[in-house]
Amino acid sequence: MKIAIQGCAHGELEKIYDTIKTLEEKERIKVDLLIICGDFQASRNEQDLYCMAVPQKYYNMCSFYKYYNGEKEAPILTIFIGGNHEASNYLQELPYGGWVAPNIYYMGYSCVLNIAGIRIGGISGIYKSHDYLKGRNEKTPYDNETKRSVYHIRNLDVFRLKQVTQPLDIFISHDWPHGIWNYGNSNQLLKFKPYFKDDMETGKLGSKPCEELLRYLQPSYYFAAHLHCKFAALFEHSNERRTKFLALDKCLPNKRFLQIIDLPHHSNLKIELKYDLEWLTILFLTNHLISIKPRINYMPSATGSTRWQFTPTEKEKDEVFNKFSENLVVPLNFVKTAKGHTSKEPKRNYTHQPKPKINRQTV
Ligand code: 5GP
Ligand code: MN
Repeated sequence: MKIAIQGCAHGELEKIYDTIKTLEEKERIKVDLLIICGDFQASRNEQDLYCMAVPQKYYNMCSFYKYYNGEKEAPILTIFIGGNHEASNYLQELPYGGWVAPNIYYMGYSCVLNIAGIRIGGISGIYKSHDYLKGRNEKTPYDNETKRSVYHIRNLDVFRLKQVTQPLDIFISHDWPHGIWNYGNSNQLLKFKPYFKDDMETGKLGSKPCEELLRYLQPSYYFAAHLHCKFAALFEHSNERRTKFLALDKCLPNKRFLQIIDLPHHSNLKIELKYDLEWLTILFLTNHLISIKPRINYMPSATGSTRWQFTPTEKEKDEVFNKFSENLVVPLNFVKTAKGHTSKEPKRNYTHQPKPKINRQTV
């Protein structure tokens, strides 16, 4: 199975699909799946643009809306995580993941999915220590603070992912795991990005929770984006277990933003999204740990009196499995929840200050 991996998309979906098409023709291959590592910018309309944390000059409709309103159809099954530039109001409609357009699936705050026997995990957002322990209380209309905290990684999602024990083929996050530069050619990286040096030395570069996840989950591949450069590393967990890490650039001409890998899949299984039973059971067992309050929300630990390990037993997985039919296939249940921009509307610069009236609209 050929999988294309994209660094930050920054709304350039049409360009990414065009690049893949050119590659397919040149190499005579067929790409089966596209994975995008955040900064996806699923802006359906003008209001969505204003929910994104970017300077005004970046308010640009780009091309996602065409796939949302049906003007175009995503030619490849596409899955993505969120980064720090997102239509966060839209992504908040799908905290556990879901279709943001036909054939384009958002993985939610954290997720494990199965595609023809290949197991893919991911976490959305970036790490900022000041929001890590807080519940998720962001609501539209966002203010300048919630517009940012809405995409900060929370401890619950890292805790949930740490309950996963069955092996993962691929894991994706937007920011890099902290310290990963020590396992590749860091001299070359610093030549290209000299201003990373101070942040590396002071521990500011990269995400510590993502480093924990890399060490816990030990995926065969780990892909990331955010730092806008290509960087490869080999992380050895033990003699038998290693992770191939690759960070990719953003989508711009002449940038190294796309990588294709070929992974063996179950040829008798269809290339379609399936829920992962271990993950569904973890979600089910940890539902009570969700908080929507702005205060600190500690995860249970060995020193407490309540259950603190949620790696599911076979019996617990059976109980969850029995709630599902259709062999865990993710239903194709995309629904439009807002009016989409159309190409017929005149192109213009969205430079005015948005008034704080932004909210979910229903069509
Ligand atoms: P974004 O597209 O998410 O706004 O920002 C990505 C840009 O910020 C990239 O050019 C990346 O190199 C830079 N960047 C992101 N995080 C850090 C950091 O922790 N330290 C430094 N020095 N640059 C960063
Ligand atoms: Mn980013």
